[in-house]
Amino acid sequence: MNKYLSELAKNIVPYTPGEQPKDKQYIKLNTNENPYPPSKRVLDKISDSCFEDLKLYPDPNSNSLRSALSKYHNVKESNIFVGNGSDEVLAFAFAAFYKDKQICFPSISYSFYPVYCQLYNIKAMKIEMKNLKIDVESFLNKKKGIIIANPNAPTGELLSLKTIEIILKSNTEDVVIIDEAYIDFGGESAISLINKYENLLVVQTFSKSRSLAGMRIGVAYGNELLIDGLNRIKNSFNSYPVDRISQVIAVESIKDDDYFLKVCNNIINTRVTTTKILREKGFDIEESYANFIFAKHSKISGETLYKKLKEKGILVRFFNKAFIDNYVRITIGTKEEMDKLINAIDNIIKD
Ligand SMILES: *Cc1c(COP(=O)(O)O)cnc(C)c1O
Repeated sequence: MNKYLSELAKNIVPYTPGEQPKDKQYIKLNTNENPYPPSKRVLDKISDSCFEDLKLYPDPNSNSLRSALSKYHNVKESNIFVGNGSDEVLAFAFAAFYKDKQICFPSISYSFYPVYCQLYNIKAMKIEMKNLKIDVESFLNKKKGIIIANPNAPTGELLSLKTIEIILKSNTEDVVIIDEAYIDFGGESAISLINKYENLLVVQTFSKSRSLAGMRIGVAYGNELLIDGLNRIKNSFNSYPVDRISQVIAVESIKDDDYFLKVCNNIINTRVTTTKILREKGFDIEESYANFIFAKHSKISGETLYKKLKEKGILVRFFNKAFIDNYVRITIGTKEEMDKLINAIDNIIKD
């Protein structure tokens, strides 16, 4: 064992991100990135503006971005926090609201949540799924923190705004986080509820629907009391989490709404057609409201499918984990990429 490690570093089991292999060109359908590039308006902004300014620290509070988001979502700037990817925003939130406390989340969900729990000595209460669906009843009157990814990952399940509100009504003492990394692919955001429930924090990201995973921009929306908590942790960790270029590009992305809506619609349409085709080929697929589908086949295990697709140059995500090890999670790519996936699957099924 490495003698330099603290007890914390020794004992923690870090999050394992999906592979980003360099050995050859794959069709990457494994990490829920957007197959389309960001808006070209973004590109125009980088070249002429911020180079000279890079010698100066960025705005520590991302004020111009918060102003753009405030108009876009019709909430006050004081209800918005911006961080270096939503993973960082979530890490700050866990530290600010749950350290040394308890938190509930669905037993099948984003696998970063248990890691933050270890990092901050939070007791994780995993709520068992019912047929891969979130058991909403079991989230009522918890008297503990709650985090729910909506849509959920890796299942793609969407809870309605009504259901989210039922959970909020019965959990008013501790912070409830709704992680909306995939909300733009067909869900209704809970941002509209932040003025009604002061313990609600809604977290979003520019990584998926806005094609900016390479930029690292995450946002939280909530009551000033919660934004204050996030700022207290941020300012105890890194005062300048979002660099200048990211701030400029994120503002441009918000301005080009036509492009954003077009990209989201393309992905939704491709998801619907891909789901239909794969079901006809014998796949069992959860109803998804995200930019991925969670699929299993009666004749091929998740692991075999993952391996055979990889041999054919297509990466999907396989989770070697109870209840879901027969599934693969397939990110929705372009129509052409999905045609290649379907072709490859046809060949695998035939063998
Ligand atoms: C991708 C993802 C995130 C992290 O997004 P970043 O902003 O890229 O850090 C957070 N939550 C869920 C559920 C995700 O799938």
